[in-house]
Amino acid sequence: FNILNKKLVVDNLVKDFQGLRALDQTSLGLQPGTILGLIGPNGSGKSTLVNLISGVYPVTEGKISFGGKEITNLPSHLIAREGIIRTFQDPNNVPNMTVKENLLLGSQLLFKSNIVSCSINSKSSLLEEKQMIEKVYKVMELCNLKEYADEQVENLPYGIQRMVEVARAILAEPQLLMLDEPAAGLSEEEMDELVRMIRYVKEKGISVILIDHHIDFLVKLVDTVVVLDSGKVIYSGDVEGMQSNKQVIEAYLGV
Ligand code: ADP
Ligand code: MG
Repeated sequence: FNILNKKLVVDNLVKDFQGLRALDQTSLGLQPGTILGLIGPNGSGKSTLVNLISGVYPVTEGKISFGGKEITNLPSHLIAREGIIRTFQDPNNVPNMTVKENLLLGSQLLFKSNIVSCSINSKSSLLEEKQMIEKVYKVMELCNLKEYADEQVENLPYGIQRMVEVARAILAEPQLLMLDEPAAGLSEEEMDELVRMIRYVKEKGISVILIDHHIDFLVKLVDTVVVLDSGKVIYSGDVEGMQSNKQVIEAYLGV
């Protein structure tokens, strides 16, 4: 698994939804192998930023580049192929498939550009399939999901479903992993598990954008934070500086 040390640069990004400016000249840079905490009040544009970087929505204005290559408005599967993988605020697993099957889908992103076009039965993919299954077991081990391997995802507790979503993203071997509120609805114990997984991801050299509201959780993980308010960056720097920043306290921490 090759880490290519790609830097993410977001330059003056604007996103309008029918008259509503969800992002307003947002800029940020993310050094390879670091974890950026993205925080701010509800509706401040956090998910929108992730949706633009991952190509889910078109950009209104501005530029995004990754490893020096411009990716603004590329189709999302091509952005994924550049190594940018994200999870959704609401788990996006296939509910009536097992954990193992969902994870196989994640690892197939490595070999095919389009999940729908994958066929496990094609001759050329036999070796790939074997490698994929090995990887799936390794990641299930890492994420403590082995005991659920053959259970349908929809029958599992919410916290486990979230873990499956993160495991699936890891299996796609990202260069940049964007996690949109991965800790929402997790128990204390599951959050510790998530901290362990994200640290593992960072050790591999993968960059991470982590959206979350739990400051205690973020402090354990992030190198820097960006605070959004009404689509604008109001703070960028370390966590300590953020906690004593007047504008951040007024917009976010105070409430
Ligand atoms: P956050 O993730 O920080 O809570 P969002 O990025 O989801 O905030 O939303 C930012 C703003 O953009 C909100 O006002 C939200 O209502 C609006 N918004 C987000 N997605 C859409 C959409 N698909 N259509 C219209 N408005 C949207
Ligand atoms: Mg959101």
